[in-house]
Amino acid sequence: MFVARILYPIEVLGPGKRVGIWFAGCPRRCRGCSNPELWEKDPRYLTTPETVADLVFRIAKDHKIDGFTFTGGDPMMQYDALMTLIPLLAPISRDVLVYTGAFLEELPPLYGITALIDGEYREEENLCHPLIGSMNQRFFLLDEAYRVRYRRYLKSLDPTASPIQNFHAADGHISVGIHRPAFLRTTKTLPNTTKRKDNL
Ligand code: SF4
Repeated sequence: MFVARILYPIEVLGPGKRVGIWFAGCPRRCRGCSNPELWEKDPRYLTTPETVADLVFRIAKDHKIDGFTFTGGDPMMQYDALMTLIPLLAPISRDVLVYTGAFLEELPPLYGITALIDGEYREEENLCHPLIGSMNQRFFLLDEAYRVRYRRYLKSLDPTASPIQNFHAADGHISVGIHRPAFLRTTKTLPNTTKRKDNL
């Protein structure tokens, strides 16, 4: 499998302090993608689910992990590896949030995934929602055991602000969160008044 980054604590992509895992590889080439450097499966990112799990368990020794957020790249482009990795991480947390450019209906069976945000990124529909990259994307809660947690989390979000976290990693400065679309970078007012109706 190809994994480019593992960061902790991620507090802007899901409830609590999470481990964020960025898969490398995505053929969709969405305009305005915030991680084009992860479109290719660069050989330097080649690893195994066991190695990734081992790294995460090392983090868990000293830190509370509330869940995992898988993004990229598109984690679903490495479905088999993802389905292998998730059970390895289950002893730490079963709260697994996955971003994918695919539609839920076209995906194979999803095991161990708590919540899914699906659909390709459309820059023109980016309203700086704190969790959803563009408003065409859909949020699905797939594990009823986490309904209360995610309902509280979604209610706690300020729909007019998308918080950003910055990290310094081995491959440079990494900015995490839902970023403004390029065409809005110089504007002072953002059209953030759209209300989403998620299935919670
Ligand atoms: S699906 Fe996601 S990672 Fe892939 S190009 Fe689109 S925004 Fe980027």
